Amino acid sequence: MVKFFGKSVYKGIAIGPVMVLRKEEQQVKRNKVEDPAGEIARVGQAVEKAKQQLQKLYDKAVVEVGEASAAIFEVHQMMLEDDDYQEAISNLIKTEQVSAEYAVAVTGDNFSEMFAGMDNDYMKARAADVKDISNRLIQCLSGDGENDFNFSEPSIIVADDLSPSETVQMDKEKILAFVTVHGSANSHTSILARMMNIPALIGVPLELDKIKSGTRAVVDGIKGEVIFDPSEAVCEETEQKLEQEKEKMRLLQELKGKENVTLSGKKVNVYANIGGVGDVGYVLENDAGGIGLFRSEFLYLGRDNFPTEEEQLQAYRQVLQTMGEKKVIIRTLDIGADKQVDYFNLGKEDNPALGYRAIRICLKQPDIFKTQLRALFRATVHGNLSIMYPMITSTEEVKKIYEIVEEVKKELEAEQIPFKNPEQGIMIETPAAVMIGDELAQMVDFFSIGTNDLTQYTLAIDRQNEKLDDFYNPHHKAILRMIQMVVDSAHKYGKWAGICGELGADLELTEEFVKMGLDELSVSPSMILPLRKCIRELS
Ligand code: PEP
Ligand code: MG
Repeated sequence: MVKFFGKSVYKGIAIGPVMVLRKEEQQVKRNKVEDPAGEIARVGQAVEKAKQQLQKLYDKAVVEVGEASAAIFEVHQMMLEDDDYQEAISNLIKTEQVSAEYAVAVTGDNFSEMFAGMDNDYMKARAADVKDISNRLIQCLSGDGENDFNFSEPSIIVADDLSPSETVQMDKEKILAFVTVHGSANSHTSILARMMNIPALIGVPLELDKIKSGTRAVVDGIKGEVIFDPSEAVCEETEQKLEQEKEKMRLLQELKGKENVTLSGKKVNVYANIGGVGDVGYVLENDAGGIGLFRSEFLYLGRDNFPTEEEQLQAYRQVLQTMGEKKVIIRTLDIGADKQVDYFNLGKEDNPALGYRAIRICLKQPDIFKTQLRALFRATVHGNLSIMYPMITSTEEVKKIYEIVEEVKKELEAEQIPFKNPEQGIMIETPAAVMIGDELAQMVDFFSIGTNDLTQYTLAIDRQNEKLDDFYNPHHKAILRMIQMVVDSAHKYGKWAGICGELGADLELTEEFVKMGLDELSVSPSMILPLRKCIRELS
């Protein structure tokens, strides 16, 4: 029995087998080889293995997301078979007598640069694909299995760190808990864990090489500990705790259908935050009054090309139709910072959180923005949709957004495609937006405060930096005063204001939020009923 402590980001309990996800180091060294012909033969075998893996992925994707989205795996198979690509690898091995791994890495980089430099957007996007297939080939060559994010048995995922795009690829039904060596409490992976009700520990000082997949473990998110090879007594105790948790949940279920109203009659809308269509089930299960934040960028993660207008429309329509008359606030894409996507070719930045992200990308690359806006406006006829724009810092940005929105509406009208005029609001997540809240309030229909970023930018603390977790204090007076300022600015002009950052679910602050006059709190689905209980007990 070995015990480790970490920081808990979702206080749940889990017991089960461990699945260790190791990230393969793709730093390939230049090694001289004696037998170039043998190396070329190894490339041939690796290509076959990679093709088989891609075929499996294709078959799975066809069933889960349909043929159009699965097609990328076919494209990858074709790229692997490309004569120019294979010839470049063989030539490098022959002429420079280097290992197959090195030749694949260099060829991958060269081809990817060549694609990235092309004028045509479609070809540009292939840069990420060629990198992807080259990494897959290197993994096959070095004998490492691929990181299989779809395990057969429900497991406790143990990893060095997890990116949001890795997390979204996993089958949520099969994850009992996350345990990671790195990661920060306010990262999107932690947010995902909370959203999915998955016990999660970060900052656990593990040596992954010493842990075998299949080992039994217990994760206690309340104590912040993970125990590998637990004794029978610990297992029994854990089973009992699981029962108690279930009982707590059962009591919360009794609050379903009840109003979010304080004892003195003040009503607060309690909505849910989601990342994709698949999360709507959690929203219904927990009886949310609506969706206060649909992080649409998750539609762009875990894939190799931009989601088309049709694909986006399908996702938005599904969420809207499932929610019926209830409000669904879809936030336009917030890519960048920790949500990196190769095919956006954003390039490396010294300060990504202060960099090219969210609305900045949309305003600089309006084609990407317009595709999303077209899908969103087309979706307006399928339910009660509001659109929300992230990372606003100025009134000029809002004006530019509206100009693009007008262009999109004109296009749709010309094409006789029906749409309705949705409510349009902004996220208040920069100190600049707080300070000019009175001006912004006159331009938009609502404010939703993104306390995760607002805290990061106000306290000058990178929310991804685990070393700063102790300094990241969203209860800081500066943040609370800012929230009050935002509510006051909104109300002065008859607009509503809510919180969709993680702080909205902080039950220690619920009373203060109600007193401040917040109209809405949008939280992880798992927090809807605990928040309802708290509101109903306030006098
Ligand atoms: C926030 O910043 O508080 C927010 C809700 O947006 P995200 O966490 O996706 O950046
Ligand atoms: Mg944010």
